[in-house]
Amino acid sequence: MTIAARATGLSKHYGSGSAEVVALDGVDFEVVSGEFTAIMGPSGSGKSTLMHLLAALDSPTSGKVFIGDTDVAKLKDTPLTELRRDRIGFIFQAFNLVPTLSARENIVLPLAIANKKVDQEWFDRIVNVLGIGNRLSHKPSELSGGQQQRVACARALMNRPDIIFGDEPTGNLDSASAAEVLSFLRRSVDEFGQTIVMVTHDALSASYADRQVFLSDGRIIKELRGASQDELLSTMAHIYPRHDQKVEEAVEEVVDDDVSVDPDSDSDSASVEAIYRDGGGSPEPEDSDEDSETVMEQTLPRRAIAG
Ligand code: ADP
Ligand code: MG
Repeated sequence: MTIAARATGLSKHYGSGSAEVVALDGVDFEVVSGEFTAIMGPSGSGKSTLMHLLAALDSPTSGKVFIGDTDVAKLKDTPLTELRRDRIGFIFQAFNLVPTLSARENIVLPLAIANKKVDQEWFDRIVNVLGIGNRLSHKPSELSGGQQQRVACARALMNRPDIIFGDEPTGNLDSASAAEVLSFLRRSVDEFGQTIVMVTHDALSASYADRQVFLSDGRIIKELRGASQDELLSTMAHIYPRHDQKVEEAVEEVVDDDVSVDPDSDSDSASVEAIYRDGGGSPEPEDSDEDSETVMEQTLPRRAIAG
């Protein structure tokens, strides 16, 4: 068993004093090579923070991140850029393709930036598996969301990274396109031996993974292997009772008075699914800084793709 990435005692605090938020709280975590790992949890539980730290896109308040044997904190700017560029692939919820470039140009962009040759055989194989061969000359605006995300998958795979990180990669897709992208991620693990870490709040998406890790308030509170969607839904209902409760309150508000809602039915898949489908039932904390998140959303993809 090879370890593709490792976190030890990983913590991330935002802000200070009474405004301090502990986004990640002493996490120990290993990503096994050749495995598809899903990081799950409700909105605000620290999923994106953990992913950004593991992907060397951000630095921790304390603790360490290793990519393979490399201690990320010891790298200076240039080797860090090279590590992100050469050893890590990214797939974001918002696709983050360059609008002025064709699909083909987007796919080979990281190689072009790194001044590397395109392995045409590998390119053809990926494009073929993704079924985007007849879309290569199109600009992102001429592609559906599902096609754009398949282009982003191809871009992530192109330089055969040690790990691909995906943050809610199917969050903006309809269910059919989401299934295509998830099947492709699954195939890339099974057929190419790709290592994938995917953040998701969605049980169906996570059921494509080999391993599911559950976060709550910045800590890992449970792990499953090869769980089905139903197993994941009932696990979520049990370990996130607060969120389940919120949904039941919401359900009570919307249902007809004649319909009684059993407050003990905490394994009611339909209501649990209703929470997680939209990114988690619990809204972001009221004091959460929308602007800083927007800035993160804008700068991280650029850093991830351009190195
Ligand atoms: P998730 O991806 O599970 O929704 P995040 O990792 O984005 O959770 O956030 C975890 C916690 O850290 C949340 O309380 C969130 O509001 C906070 N947080 C995340 N990014 C920032 C930031 N840049 N500044 C301040 N707080 C942040
Ligand atoms: Mg997130």
